[in-house]
Amino acid sequence: MSNDCLFCKIAAGEIPAKVVREDEFALAFEDIVPQAPLHVLVVPRRHIATLNDLGDADEALVGHLVAMARDIARAKGYEESGYRTVFNCNADGGQTVFHIHLHLLAGRSLAWPPG
Ligand code: AMP
Ligand code: ZN
Repeated sequence: MSNDCLFCKIAAGEIPAKVVREDEFALAFEDIVPQAPLHVLVVPRRHIATLNDLGDADEALVGHLVAMARDIARAKGYEESGYRTVFNCNADGGQTVFHIHLHLLAGRSLAWPPG
Protein backbone atom coordinates (compact mmCIF):
# COMPACT_ATOMS: atom_id res chain seq x y z
CA MET A 1 0.00 0.00 0.00
CA SER A 2 1.31 3.40 -0.99
CA ASN A 3 0.02 6.03 1.43
CA ASP A 4 -0.34 8.70 -1.23
CA CYS A 5 -2.09 6.54 -3.77
CA LEU A 6 -5.75 7.07 -4.59
CA PHE A 7 -6.33 3.56 -5.92
CA CYS A 8 -4.56 1.93 -2.94
CA LYS A 9 -6.99 3.87 -0.74
CA ILE A 10 -9.96 2.70 -2.80
CA ALA A 11 -8.68 -0.90 -2.63
CA ALA A 12 -8.35 -0.55 1.16
CA GLY A 13 -11.89 0.83 1.44
CA GLU A 14 -10.64 4.18 2.74
CA ILE A 15 -12.11 6.12 -0.18
CA PRO A 16 -15.53 5.09 -1.49
CA ALA A 17 -16.04 3.69 -4.96
CA LYS A 18 -18.77 1.81 -6.76
CA VAL A 19 -17.21 -1.64 -6.70
CA VAL A 20 -18.33 -3.91 -9.52
CA ARG A 21 -16.24 -7.00 -8.73
CA GLU A 22 -13.42 -7.92 -6.41
CA ASP A 23 -11.30 -10.81 -5.24
CA GLU A 24 -8.09 -11.46 -3.40
CA PHE A 25 -5.89 -9.94 -6.11
CA ALA A 26 -7.92 -7.26 -7.83
CA LEU A 27 -10.76 -4.80 -7.61
CA ALA A 28 -12.99 -3.31 -10.32
CA PHE A 29 -14.92 -0.09 -9.76
CA GLU A 30 -16.79 2.49 -11.83
CA ASP A 31 -14.76 5.36 -13.25
CA ILE A 32 -15.80 8.66 -11.63
CA VAL A 33 -15.81 10.41 -15.04
CA PRO A 34 -17.25 7.73 -17.32
CA GLN A 35 -16.32 7.98 -21.00
CA ALA A 36 -18.86 5.37 -22.10
CA PRO A 37 -22.07 3.82 -20.69
CA LEU A 38 -19.82 1.22 -19.05
CA HIS A 39 -16.47 2.53 -17.82
CA VAL A 40 -14.82 0.42 -15.17
CA LEU A 41 -11.25 0.43 -13.87
CA VAL A 42 -9.69 -2.91 -12.94
CA VAL A 43 -6.77 -2.50 -10.53
CA PRO A 44 -4.47 -4.87 -8.67
CA ARG A 45 -4.71 -4.63 -4.89
CA ARG A 46 -0.93 -4.35 -4.79
CA HIS A 47 0.57 -0.98 -5.66
CA ILE A 48 2.31 -0.98 -9.05
CA ALA A 49 2.85 2.56 -10.35
CA THR A 50 3.08 2.02 -14.11
CA LEU A 51 3.36 -0.81 -16.60
CA ASN A 52 7.11 -0.14 -16.54
CA ASP A 53 7.17 -1.39 -12.95
CA LEU A 54 5.77 -4.83 -13.78
CA GLY A 55 8.09 -7.71 -13.08
CA ASP A 56 8.13 -11.03 -14.90
CA ALA A 57 6.39 -12.54 -11.87
CA ASP A 58 3.45 -10.18 -12.44
CA GLU A 59 2.41 -11.76 -15.74
CA ALA A 60 -0.28 -13.86 -14.09
CA LEU A 61 -1.58 -10.82 -12.21
CA VAL A 62 -1.97 -8.82 -15.43
CA GLY A 63 -3.72 -11.76 -17.02
CA HIS A 64 -6.04 -11.81 -14.03
CA LEU A 65 -6.94 -8.14 -14.58
CA VAL A 66 -7.75 -8.84 -18.23
CA ALA A 67 -9.86 -11.87 -17.29
CA MET A 68 -11.76 -9.81 -14.73
CA ALA A 69 -12.49 -7.16 -17.38
CA ARG A 70 -13.71 -9.92 -19.74
CA ASP A 71 -15.98 -11.32 -17.03
CA ILE A 72 -17.49 -7.91 -16.31
CA ALA A 73 -18.06 -7.20 -20.01
CA ARG A 74 -19.75 -10.58 -20.35
CA ALA A 75 -21.86 -10.10 -17.21
CA LYS A 76 -23.00 -6.66 -18.40
CA GLY A 77 -24.01 -8.04 -21.80
CA TYR A 78 -21.28 -6.48 -23.97
CA GLU A 79 -19.65 -9.69 -25.11
CA GLU A 80 -21.09 -9.54 -28.63
CA SER A 81 -21.41 -5.78 -29.20
CA GLY A 82 -17.81 -5.33 -28.06
CA TYR A 83 -15.69 -3.33 -25.70
CA ARG A 84 -12.25 -1.81 -25.28
CA THR A 85 -9.59 -2.44 -22.67
CA VAL A 86 -6.61 -0.13 -22.28
CA PHE A 87 -3.71 0.58 -19.96
CA ASN A 88 -2.34 4.12 -20.23
CA CYS A 89 1.33 4.56 -19.37
CA ASN A 90 3.03 7.82 -18.36
CA ALA A 91 2.50 11.24 -19.92
CA ASP A 92 2.07 10.46 -23.61
CA GLY A 93 -0.14 7.50 -22.77
CA GLY A 94 -2.42 9.78 -20.76
CA GLN A 95 -1.82 8.21 -17.37
CA THR A 96 -2.96 10.45 -14.51
CA VAL A 97 -3.24 7.98 -11.62
CA PHE A 98 0.00 6.14 -10.92
CA HIS A 99 -1.35 2.77 -9.83
CA ILE A 100 -1.90 0.59 -12.88
CA HIS A 101 -5.50 0.23 -13.98
CA LEU A 102 -7.15 -1.45 -16.92
CA HIS A 103 -9.90 0.69 -18.41
CA LEU A 104 -12.93 -1.27 -19.60
CA LEU A 105 -15.18 0.77 -21.90
CA ALA A 106 -18.38 -0.42 -23.55
CA GLY A 107 -21.86 0.62 -24.59
CA ARG A 108 -21.05 2.86 -27.55
CA SER A 109 -19.00 2.65 -30.73
CA LEU A 110 -15.49 3.83 -29.84
CA ALA A 111 -13.34 5.71 -32.32
CA TRP A 112 -9.97 4.47 -33.53
CA PRO A 113 -7.28 5.74 -33.58
CA PRO A 114 -7.61 7.33 -30.14
CA GLY A 115 -6.95 11.07 -29.85
P1 AMP B 1 -5.66 7.39 -16.46
O1 AMP B 1 -5.80 8.76 -17.07
O2 AMP B 1 -5.50 6.28 -17.44
O3 AMP B 1 -4.59 7.39 -15.37
O4 AMP B 1 -7.05 7.09 -15.76
C1 AMP B 1 -7.38 7.53 -14.49
C2 AMP B 1 -8.87 7.38 -14.37
O5 AMP B 1 -9.21 7.42 -13.00
C3 AMP B 1 -9.66 8.49 -15.06
O6 AMP B 1 -10.53 7.91 -16.03
C4 AMP B 1 -10.44 9.15 -13.91
O7 AMP B 1 -11.72 9.56 -14.29
C5 AMP B 1 -10.46 8.03 -12.88
N1 AMP B 1 -10.61 8.45 -11.50
C6 AMP B 1 -9.96 9.47 -10.87
N2 AMP B 1 -10.33 9.53 -9.58
C7 AMP B 1 -11.25 8.55 -9.39
C8 AMP B 1 -12.01 8.10 -8.27
N3 AMP B 1 -11.92 8.69 -7.06
N4 AMP B 1 -12.86 7.07 -8.45
C9 AMP B 1 -12.98 6.47 -9.66
N5 AMP B 1 -12.27 6.83 -10.74
C10 AMP B 1 -11.43 7.86 -10.61
ZN1 ZN C 1 -1.49 2.32 -5.30
